[in-house]
Amino acid sequence: MTDEAARPIAVDRPEPGPERPAAAPPSRPRVIRDPDEARDAARTLRRERGSLALVPTMGFLHEGHLSLLDRAREQASAVAISIFVNPTQFGPDEDYEAYPRDLERDARLAAERGADFVFAPTAAAMYPGSPTITVDPGRLADRLCGLGRPGHFRGVLTVVLKLLHVLEPDVAVFGRKDFQQSVLVRRMIRELDVPTRIETAPIVREPGGLAMSSRNTYLSPSERRVALSLSRGLRLVRERFAAGERDPSALVSLARATMETAGAVVEYAEVVDPRELAGVEEASAEAVCAVAARVGSTRLIDNTPLGGNSSLDAPGRPGAPE
Ligand code: AMP
Repeated sequence: MTDEAARPIAVDRPEPGPERPAAAPPSRPRVIRDPDEARDAARTLRRERGSLALVPTMGFLHEGHLSLLDRAREQASAVAISIFVNPTQFGPDEDYEAYPRDLERDARLAAERGADFVFAPTAAAMYPGSPTITVDPGRLADRLCGLGRPGHFRGVLTVVLKLLHVLEPDVAVFGRKDFQQSVLVRRMIRELDVPTRIETAPIVREPGGLAMSSRNTYLSPSERRVALSLSRGLRLVRERFAAGERDPSALVSLARATMETAGAVVEYAEVVDPRELAGVEEASAEAVCAVAARVGSTRLIDNTPLGGNSSLDAPGRPGAPE
C-alpha cells in the first residue's frame, strides 16, 4: 500500500502574499490530510456559510470532476473535494499502485474551481488498524461492473460512507459516468438513513465523445481511437431507439458489435432499468444502456439513458451522446 503521507505537497492555507491580490482565486488551496482536522474544517465552514457540498474523487482531476465542483457550488455555499485513491475498491489484479496521482496539480485546479479545501487523507489515516466492518452493497452490486469487479462496490460504499461521516456534507455530488456507483450510493443513503442529499451530474466528454476518465491517460493514440467506439456504440443505440427499436437485445448487439469491430474487448453491454439495474424486457426512454470494455489493458465504462432524459440526467449536458 502506498504511503501517500510521504509525498511533499502544499498543506494548509498559505499566507496571502503581495503577489496574490485578495480577490484572485487561491493558487495554493488548503489541503488537509488528517480526518479530524478535516471534520473541524467542514464544521466551521458549515457554521460560517450555512451549507457544505462534497465532491468525492480519486484525483488526477479532469473536466468531468471539475464539472462536479460547479454543480456543488450551485448546491451549497461551501465546497470540499476529497482526493483519495481508495485501496479497498481495487481488486488484487487492478491498477491501485499505477493509478495516476498528482495532488499538487489537483489541489490547484480544485481551488481555481471554487473548492474551499481539499481532503486528501492517507490510506493509513482512513483505515487505521485492521478494519473489520464494511458496507454490504447487496444485490445491486451483483450486476454490471460488480460481476467483473468482485468487492469493488463494497469498497466504494464503505469509503463513501466514511467520507460522509468525516465531512458531514449537506449534499454530495457524483457523476453519472459511474452509473452503477451513483445508483448504489443513492440506495445506501436512503436505506441507511444518511442525512446527505445526493446529486448526480452528467457525463463530461472529450470532443470525440470519449467519456473523460483519469484512466484515459493510459491510452495510446491508437487505443484512444478504439476507445471512441464505446460512446459511438451508445450513440448508435440511442439513434436506433429513437427510430423505434424496443428490443433490448437488438440494442445491446449494436453496442457490442460497434465496440468489437473497433477492437475493444467487451466486458458487458446491457440495457437495464435505472433503479434495479436489471435487464429490461422492452426498452424504454428511461432505461440505460451501460457498457464496459477493455482497450488494451485499460478498462473503460460508459452509459447513456436511451431517451436522453432519465431521472439521472440534468439539462444542458455537455458533450455527445448525452
Ligand atoms: P473518480 O475520481 O473516477 O472516482 O471519479 C470521481 C467522481 O467523478 C465520480 O462521481 C465520477 O462519476 C465522476 N466523474 C468521473 N468522470 C466523469 C465524467 N467524465 N463526467 C462527469 N463525472 C465524472
